[in-house]
Amino acid sequence: MLKGMTAHANDFAVDVRGLRKRYGGVTAVDGLDLGIRRGEVFGLLGPNGAGKSTTVEILQGNRSRDGGEVSVLGADPATGTRAWRSRVGIVWQDESAPAELTVRETVRHFARYYPRPRDPAEVIRLVGLEAKSDSRIKALSGGQRRRLDVALGVIGGPELLLLDEPTTGFDPAARRQFWDLIRLLADEGTTILLTTHYLEEAETLADRLAVVARGRVVAEGTPTGLRRRYGGEASVTWTEADGSPRRELTDTPTRTVAALMHRFDGEIPGLTVTRPTLEDVYLRLTGQEAAR
Ligand code: ADP
Repeated sequence: MLKGMTAHANDFAVDVRGLRKRYGGVTAVDGLDLGIRRGEVFGLLGPNGAGKSTTVEILQGNRSRDGGEVSVLGADPATGTRAWRSRVGIVWQDESAPAELTVRETVRHFARYYPRPRDPAEVIRLVGLEAKSDSRIKALSGGQRRRLDVALGVIGGPELLLLDEPTTGFDPAARRQFWDLIRLLADEGTTILLTTHYLEEAETLADRLAVVARGRVVAEGTPTGLRRRYGGEASVTWTEADGSPRRELTDTPTRTVAALMHRFDGEIPGLTVTRPTLEDVYLRLTGQEAAR
């Protein structure tokens, strides 16, 4: 029994129960539960102010909590040791590195902080900065700078990588390149938690995601599963022979279309069948429908 429980606990890189955090009169995190399995890319999706950053800061051990249980790689981040910290990769925005150093010098320098660092040259290649190895940091573009930040986040060979809004401010091309990098890291077996308010990012990258609103998880699952569970019915629209538009909401759109085909004896005028997108689900769950 005990053995079984231990194995279960080890399946989870992150296990959070009933997490709470208040800033003065503001409740930022309000009973949040989260379970992230090892090897998973997990997306924490939610609007600004939902409590995502606060949650990530608590997981990193950089912010205290007011309640709840938190286990990250088997330890409580509030009392995490240096050895524990070296297993958790944190990507800071604009990690303070001397602007005069080159990319190679910087990555090598940061490698010295860890007991078992990755090979700096390999990490530089991984983040796609090989051609910039000898460039000074001050000469990097914004996107290249962000890649360096990721290199510094993974140089210690972390088992878990925590990314808070990693692509905010990126142009679409830089965002796509960054997604490729995340996938590479995931393929290597790194567990990744990323927060985002970009739905497309969560849908593209995450094996599973949790939608957070007002400090709580309001839905959790795979992108496809969430759409199926919360999306509601498909909508079938067509035009009647007298020109009047018709719409039917149904769980069985194929059956509706088959019946219409039979009735119209062939082509159905103006036929459309639409299913809810993940965006519809997201807006519904976060109570932002009115904003559309
Ligand atoms: P998200 O990352 O989802 O945008 P945050 O965790 O940053 O959400 O913020 C959640 C809530 O907590 C917001 O209402 C925010 O204004 C508040 N908050 C965040 N950080 C602080 C802080 N250091 N001091 C006071 N209030 C904060």
